[in-house]
Amino acid sequence: MTFVVTDNCIKCKYTDCVEVCPVDAFHEGPNFLVINPDECIDCTLCEPECPVNAIYPEDDVPAGQESFLALNADLAKNWPVITERKDAPADAKDWENKPNKIGLLER
Ligand code: SF4
Ligand code: SF4
Repeated sequence: MTFVVTDNCIKCKYTDCVEVCPVDAFHEGPNFLVINPDECIDCTLCEPECPVNAIYPEDDVPAGQESFLALNADLAKNWPVITERKDAPADAKDWENKPNKIGLLER
């Protein structure tokens, strides 16, 4: 079992989630974060920290976003670990809750 970062994090990237993770499972890309499923211990702490509800347990990923499970695993292999909160992008608010941002994901 792992937790998964989904579409709503793209271009929001508030990073509130990373500081609570006891195993440093978050990895950072240019405009998205992912969770390394090999590190996540399923502690649930990050889920309520995300202001845009982008984090789900793998069994509860919203319909249509199942591909984010493999995407988190893949991108975590090459992206660096992030453990400290940082400022969100200046336009993060404008992108909150916009659906289907996957096409805007930068790798
Ligand atoms: S708190 Fe939510 S929006 Fe912010 S980086 Fe974490 S998953 Fe993404
Ligand atoms: S569920 Fe726990 S271990 Fe997994 S990513 Fe979130 S905070 Fe880290």
